[in-house]
Amino acid sequence: MAYSDLYPVRLPPALESLTLMGKAGVRGFPRLEPAQALLMEVLQNPPLPLERPLLDLTALSGISGAMFSDMEPTLVERSKAALNVLDAQGFGNITRGLPPQLKGEYSTVLVTLPAERGNDAVDEVVRAAFRLTKMGGTCYLAGDKDRGFERYFKWAREHFGEGEILERHKGLRVAGFRKTRAEVLEQTLEPTLKFGEYEFADLKIATLPGVFSGKGVDAATKLLLEFLGEHLPAIEGQRVLDIGAGAGVIGAWAASRGAKVTMLEDDWGGVLCSERTLERSGLNGEVLHSDAGSALPSSGPSSAQFDTVLSNPPFHVGGDLILEVAEEFIALAARVLPGGGNFYLVANVFLPYEPLLERSFKLSSGVRNRSFKVLCGQKR
Ligand code: SAM
Repeated sequence: MAYSDLYPVRLPPALESLTLMGKAGVRGFPRLEPAQALLMEVLQNPPLPLERPLLDLTALSGISGAMFSDMEPTLVERSKAALNVLDAQGFGNITRGLPPQLKGEYSTVLVTLPAERGNDAVDEVVRAAFRLTKMGGTCYLAGDKDRGFERYFKWAREHFGEGEILERHKGLRVAGFRKTRAEVLEQTLEPTLKFGEYEFADLKIATLPGVFSGKGVDAATKLLLEFLGEHLPAIEGQRVLDIGAGAGVIGAWAASRGAKVTMLEDDWGGVLCSERTLERSGLNGEVLHSDAGSALPSSGPSSAQFDTVLSNPPFHVGGDLILEVAEEFIALAARVLPGGGNFYLVANVFLPYEPLLERSFKLSSGVRNRSFKVLCGQKR
């Protein structure tokens, strides 16, 4: 059972006639994201017209592509793991990108609110949905009332002109809107990315809505870098891999110490931030949009390509706690390091990574506080 293998996504009874594939690391796997499932159930008998062109701003594994294949929907995703799954299923119009970058006019726009990416990212996708819906067109939003749905619903109804809640199931909601108002806020019409920035050490860290550590450096990352500052052997000229780079904090830190850095990041927003962090900090490095090592040129069994690997792995996908992605990061570190190569990882203290590391690494003592631990492994 390889990390990159695809498996059928568990669908609710009403959608069981469809086939949808997914994989570990994709939001909405192994079970279809509940809000997206409710949206698809509503769209089986759409109360408002479903017309082409159709845009799904949060495609995930591509359920709208499977349901509306005859309408050739445009499927938008920012996660590389999800994009790989969409590609493998042969869906036609797949767009890698962030909502503010998208252009065009669509008769029907679908959104499952990405609450786990934070309010700014949800705001951005709702504004984009409004901007991308043409006059007279329809937009559907699905989300959770405990994660701000009401607020986005009110904003959308005011801007679109007409809107109502179409379905409620437990905390989940699906709403439909028709764009009837001509006047719009100027800012909702601008298809541009607005980067933020903060300073950390001598680095300038770029931020975008939905990218990890948007408001400041993560406490776990800080602990890792403090530890590395004291204990990491010189890395000047060494090849260093940062897996799950986010806004590029760890990779840029290594680059500022003279390492040749490669960063891997699943989220397209994170890739753009990492590139900008390097540029704004006057550093060089390579940033790859990658589901774990999927974008590395060759990550076969004997492909030692790096001297040191650093990571603060994720343990959530959507709202769910999962270990598969971190497990793959550890397996990847073992594949790309030669014997004796060092892997430094930081994690919440409750995460059971030690047995996974011990398969390929000799562990030595790192550091821990009440919340986090730094684990050091030397490749056997
Ligand atoms: N290294 C950054 C830092 O320390 O600020 C980010 C750490 S954050 C805990 C984990 C990062 O891993 C997130 O940016 C997330 O988007 C990324 N990620 C999640 N799944 C991934 C995957 N399958 N492949 C690569 N990166 C992934």
